[in-house]
Amino acid sequence: MPTVPAYAALRSSAPLTPFLVPRREVGPRDVLIDIAFCGICHSDIHQVRDEWGGAAFPMVPGHEVVGRVGRVGGEVTRFRTGDVAGVGCYVDSCRTCAPCRRGLEQFCERGTAFTYNSTEMDRKTPTYGGYSTQIVVDEAYALKVPAQLDLAGAAPLMCAGITTYAPLRRFEVRKGSRVGVVGLGGLGHMAVKIAAALGAEVTMLSTSRSKERDARRLGAQAFVLTTDAGALEHLRGTFDVIIDTVSASHAIEPYLRALRVEGAMAVVGLPPSAVPIPFSGLVQGNKILAGSMIGGIAQTQEMLEFCGKHGIVSDVEVVPAQRIDEAYLCTVRNEVRYRFVIDTATIRP
Ligand code: NAP
Ligand code: ZN
Ligand code: ZN
Repeated sequence: MPTVPAYAALRSSAPLTPFLVPRREVGPRDVLIDIAFCGICHSDIHQVRDEWGGAAFPMVPGHEVVGRVGRVGGEVTRFRTGDVAGVGCYVDSCRTCAPCRRGLEQFCERGTAFTYNSTEMDRKTPTYGGYSTQIVVDEAYALKVPAQLDLAGAAPLMCAGITTYAPLRRFEVRKGSRVGVVGLGGLGHMAVKIAAALGAEVTMLSTSRSKERDARRLGAQAFVLTTDAGALEHLRGTFDVIIDTVSASHAIEPYLRALRVEGAMAVVGLPPSAVPIPFSGLVQGNKILAGSMIGGIAQTQEMLEFCGKHGIVSDVEVVPAQRIDEAYLCTVRNEVRYRFVIDTATIRP
């Protein structure tokens, strides 16, 4: 099996170091993507630090992958050599169970084959992610990326983009909807851009005073510093939809109160420790509290076309692979503006 250069964590919380990963030969339905950029998602950090449990090492993280198709199998119909293609959080699923048939492949009943820290559907072959120079994936799990989008900025759409687009669509955000976005990081800044492009009035709900100007530039019409005493009380009954992207444990009751009657709060952040759910805050006002995990392939493709049409990409800071650990630290310290993206040309054997 051919091997390609990558960066891996060899054990929990270890620094990311050069590593060779096996990639399968290009099968009839496979595309080989020469990876150009790979985003650093906070989920990469949670997994490298084994904060969710069950992590497998060596781990090559990376599920915000963009590059050009270098080779296609004989039966491939959707891609040609040279096309811009992406890979998100998973590379396969059973294709026959109810969630797979409904376009929710991330919830495959046989176990989705996630892009890394997982296995192929044979449940034996480990998967390795996008902090590498090439990946081989079935064309059905590869995404077509609008060619006009900046490549580095498009990479984070594969996770941060779809993770925020899916709940905004599910709760029917449209022109005039009042949307609150909690947490201005990788996911949060995509939520602001996408909600604004859908026509919503967006309010940024942030713990960082220094981010106000950015929030407005990204498309928010209002900025509320949630650490200010009483700030959220003033927003009681305001929002149709709130998207909560916070990566650490935090109280959600003040946000539930900020929803209008029958409003919906979608949580997408995955703090390592439990967040208490105040039932009274839900019952009062028939509020909806929903979870949301990435999105299906068809909806991810729809999101990419939406972003192509509206010229939406992530605000990125491109880093060489040698600075991944530093980028992790900056992200954990809440210093990222707003997504680190690895230039994979810097990965050498
Ligand atoms: P990120 O770039 O680090 O952003 C997280 C934001 O949360 C920060 O910018 C900060 O915003 C806020 N925050 C951080 N610590 C906080 C604290 N202690 N209290 C209050 N706010 C805090 O992370 P990300 O990549 O956007 O990911 C966010 C979360 O979503 C992670 O847990 C990640 O694993 C998860 N995730 C879930 C999915 C899914 O499918 N559901 C997909 C991708 C990622 P402010 O400074 O504005 O307050
Ligand atoms: Zn992610
Ligand atoms: Zn399935």
